Amino acid sequence: MATFLFNDIIFGPVKSRRLGVSLGVNLLPEDYKYCTYNCLYCECGWTLDSKTKVKLHTSKDIQQALEQQLIQMKAKGKAPDNITFAGNGEPTLHPDFASIIDDTIALRNHYFPKALISVLSNATQIHKPKIIAALNKVDQNILKLDSAIDDTYSLINQPKTSMTVSTLVQRLKVFKDNLSIQTLFIRGNYQGKHFDNTTEEEVSKWLNLIKEINPKNVMIYPIARDTPLADLEKIESSTLQAIGKRVKDAGIKVYIYD
Ligand code: SF4
Repeated sequence: MATFLFNDIIFGPVKSRRLGVSLGVNLLPEDYKYCTYNCLYCECGWTLDSKTKVKLHTSKDIQQALEQQLIQMKAKGKAPDNITFAGNGEPTLHPDFASIIDDTIALRNHYFPKALISVLSNATQIHKPKIIAALNKVDQNILKLDSAIDDTYSLINQPKTSMTVSTLVQRLKVFKDNLSIQTLFIRGNYQGKHFDNTTEEEVSKWLNLIKEINPKNVMIYPIARDTPLADLEKIESSTLQAIGKRVKDAGIKVYIYD
């Protein structure tokens, strides 16, 4: 199916379901996705072979591109609600991620002090102290957890290194409550295996982990765009609403983007 890549460092501003007027920052290459996961639903397509030589923009290029865009928005009187790190893969893989966040905070404070800085991350780099420190500085530290069950997690997210849900959860807890959890609910078939992270077993185990992690809030959503795998089913609104109600009943704020 027709997935897409962001073709520049800065994209938008776009109107986002989750983030309002969002100015996107892509720290990854423009011609392929660079990620530690290979999610079956990734709107950027499949992750390439890890042997591909990765060429990234320097932190200076990124700072200049962002500043230029902020100056233009200021001149037009258009304020972003969010400066959002997302793009063609996992933003925390950029070796200068921490200093890029510092630069972005300085630019935000200068041009649009009310704008939030958000990072959408798959949480695979949060064992690194520099990444933890950087994510603790942003306004919205949004980290992925798609299943509490290892087999489902491995199938949906296809991590490139061996990782278990339990390790991931221990790492997520380091942020205390300074994080949001994002979960994409989905069902489908891949390589002869069926998966569905909306079953009772999946949702109850996932909810137990959410309570343990104790995030500021939880964002749940279905697929919204084209995906690399065709055999995927968009989860119906009623199911997402029912899952969201269980999160709310547990005393945790939830946003449902159905
Ligand atoms: S973590 Fe994000 S960028 Fe990476 S494969 Fe999954 S959806 Fe795509």
